[in-house]
Amino acid sequence: MIPVKAYAAHNPKSSLTPFSFSRRDVGDNDVQVDILYCGVCHSDIHQVRDEWGDSIYPMVPGHEIVGKVVNVGKNVKKFKTGDLAGVGVMVDSCRHCEPCNHGLEQYCVEGMTGTYNTIERDGVTVAQGGYSTQIVVDERYVHKISEKLDLKAVAPLLCAGITTYSPLRYVGVKEGTKVGVIGLGGLGHMGVKFAVSFGAEVTMLSTSPSKEKDAKRLGAHKFLNTKDEAEVKKYHNYFDVLLNTVSANVPYEQYLDLLNLNGKMIIVGLPSEHPTLNPFKLLKNRRTIIGSMIGGMPETQEMLDYCAEKNIVSDIELINIDYINEAYERTIKGDVRYRFVIDIASLKK
Ligand code: NAP
Ligand code: ZN
Ligand code: ZN
Repeated sequence: MIPVKAYAAHNPKSSLTPFSFSRRDVGDNDVQVDILYCGVCHSDIHQVRDEWGDSIYPMVPGHEIVGKVVNVGKNVKKFKTGDLAGVGVMVDSCRHCEPCNHGLEQYCVEGMTGTYNTIERDGVTVAQGGYSTQIVVDERYVHKISEKLDLKAVAPLLCAGITTYSPLRYVGVKEGTKVGVIGLGGLGHMGVKFAVSFGAEVTMLSTSPSKEKDAKRLGAHKFLNTKDEAEVKKYHNYFDVLLNTVSANVPYEQYLDLLNLNGKMIIVGLPSEHPTLNPFKLLKNRRTIIGSMIGGMPETQEMLDYCAEKNIVSDIELINIDYINEAYERTIKGDVRYRFVIDIASLKK
């Protein structure tokens, strides 16, 4: 077994505190990654606080993991010692169902194995995430990371990046598509960057007027303060695509009015309470609501390669592990520009 230092939550109300556990030994198909950086996703906070139900404690969160390969099993082909590697939101799936066979492992019929807060496929091991020093994962679920980019700013691509890239590609965002990104946080700021890079006309929809300058710097062409009802009205029947990244319970209806004919609202934000929906809002303009969960293994690699080619990374605030509880409070307040990333060196001291 491989000893690991980490930070864990012990119940929904506790702070995260230092914690030790062991990873499995490196199997024939496994890659051992010495973790260098791990992003802080709002999903970490939802799960630590048991906002989705059925949380497993102690819980080591973290699914935006980058680091260096330090050991590989004898069958491993993709990696060698010294390579950079990334691990995202899942570490396994059934590997034989139709979605798995089509590289859509996140929609595995038997359920994907999350990077943490889940029981692994052996039925006993509790998966633990990236607020830790080492991780061991089957190579199928590990991504290659380019040496070209700033590694600490690459970490959030493993969740915030793929979660926004995948649905924008799926609905065919291209030159001239009118895209509105709702919520300027970790996911939202990546959504803006990708939609702009695909040639879309991008509007940032935010409850925080103070973020307007940043939204424009990130590439958004317009900014809509969603608290200003008169301004919101001007955008009725306007957008082809809305990417809803809001982590809180806000009525979807409030945004559906903004969709044009055949407009689509992609839901990626996962509040604990469930918004209401007036079906009349869907009938008008033949609107669609689409949910989307992260991205499969091939598309995640495609996104990472695309980012290396286009020089796209996340805007981050680098923190030491002992700042994690304050980082959670600030994320909940929307006070992060735009992703906290933990320097795992601070855990190795
Ligand atoms: P985040 O950094 O906290 O950003 C969320 C943003 O939502 C905030 O910055 C804020 O933007 C807006 N917001 C927050 N509270 C609001 C409220 N009461 N009313 C209106 N807007 C509000 O969170 P994140 O890490 O980007 O994650 C966003 C959500 O996506 C979370 O629920 C997370 O669990 C989920 N998620 C889903 C997937 C997936 O696969 N589908 C993957 C990762 C994360 P403004 O200040 O601009 O309004
Ligand atoms: Zn995430
Ligand atoms: Zn499967």
